[in-house]
Amino acid sequence: MSGNEQKYINEAFESNWIAPLGPNVDAFEEEITKITGTGGAVAVSSGTAAIHLALRLLGVGKGDKVFCSSLTFVASANPILYQGAEPVFIDAEPDTWNMSPKALEQAFHDAAYHGCLPKAVVIVNLYGQSSKMEELLSICNWYDVPVVEDAAESLGSTYKGKASGTFGKFGIYSFNGNKIITTSGGGMLISEDLEALKKARFLATQAKDEALHYQHSQQGYNYRLSNILAGIGRAQLEVLRDRVEARRLIFEIYNQGLSHIPGLQFMPEMENTMSNRWLTALTIDGNVTGICAAELLSALTKENIEARPVWKPLHHQPLFAGTKFYPHDEDFSIKLFNTGICLPSGSNMSEEDQLRVISTIKATLTKSFIKG
Ligand SMILES: *Cc1c(COP(=O)(O)O)cnc(C)c1O
Repeated sequence: MSGNEQKYINEAFESNWIAPLGPNVDAFEEEITKITGTGGAVAVSSGTAAIHLALRLLGVGKGDKVFCSSLTFVASANPILYQGAEPVFIDAEPDTWNMSPKALEQAFHDAAYHGCLPKAVVIVNLYGQSSKMEELLSICNWYDVPVVEDAAESLGSTYKGKASGTFGKFGIYSFNGNKIITTSGGGMLISEDLEALKKARFLATQAKDEALHYQHSQQGYNYRLSNILAGIGRAQLEVLRDRVEARRLIFEIYNQGLSHIPGLQFMPEMENTMSNRWLTALTIDGNVTGICAAELLSALTKENIEARPVWKPLHHQPLFAGTKFYPHDEDFSIKLFNTGICLPSGSNMSEEDQLRVISTIKATLTKSFIKG
């Protein structure tokens, strides 16, 4: 927390706005709209809920196909299942670790050939790095299929000077506890289409018709964000810039400490993009270092350093067994999964802690080198 959260929470208590609506919710939506330069925003209970609303608004239903990045957290694809639709997973590419335009093109080519284009494409910006939006959008626009930009991890990042999340028909952010800013749990749906957002607000409030007598003509959800949590979000937004700077500095320190070591390669930052560096991620080439990512992870765990694997690609998840997948060349996502590590990257991490992570990694690699 940054300090101002309690002030906004107190405002909610003092005015007795303890509900999934109220002045903090309205202000939080306005502030996100302003910061990202989008048309409008709807505050919801999670990033997952925001993706679900986006797919529902795009008319995704039973039997429809939705293309989705494979290298991501399961929340990107779960809402496809909620709608009874079928995901088709698209591989990552080396420049951004995000959706491969080449694989997407192939997927569209096949879909058009079989006369069953997807209803939507979910494009994820991994660990804060924007996807190749221009290339991806030009393919989706050619086939006239709308994009949902999953910017859950990339709030505060930019692509060609424009806020990450603002490139699709809909964009979504997450304020889960692990994200760059948090409301403990929460999310935001953004769009230029204010009519669609009005519908989102309606669906997220149990789709209650405009009548006094609790009338419902459509299936709705209880997805709005609490006025108390929105208060936390407002204070967090005030420090978003600082958080991005802190995370980028953390990346820089790791980069300076480790990038000269053969076999280690940091997640790239594509030209004309600015990543919030939500997590510092790197790959380790076992053939060069003599140690694989899993071994390095366990060596760090032994020193009480909590590092993590890269997301397990969704086309390799038991949940999605048998789902169609379009590779970049070969399966690049699984390569990143097998060789990738996310280092501790919290905004409040001390430099001393970071130097301990760096020296532990160096010592582990040296030991394995001597052993080998
Ligand atoms: C965190 C996350 C989500 C889901 O957000 P919640 O607020 O936790 O529901 C969706 N997509 C990605 C890529 C995420 O990292």
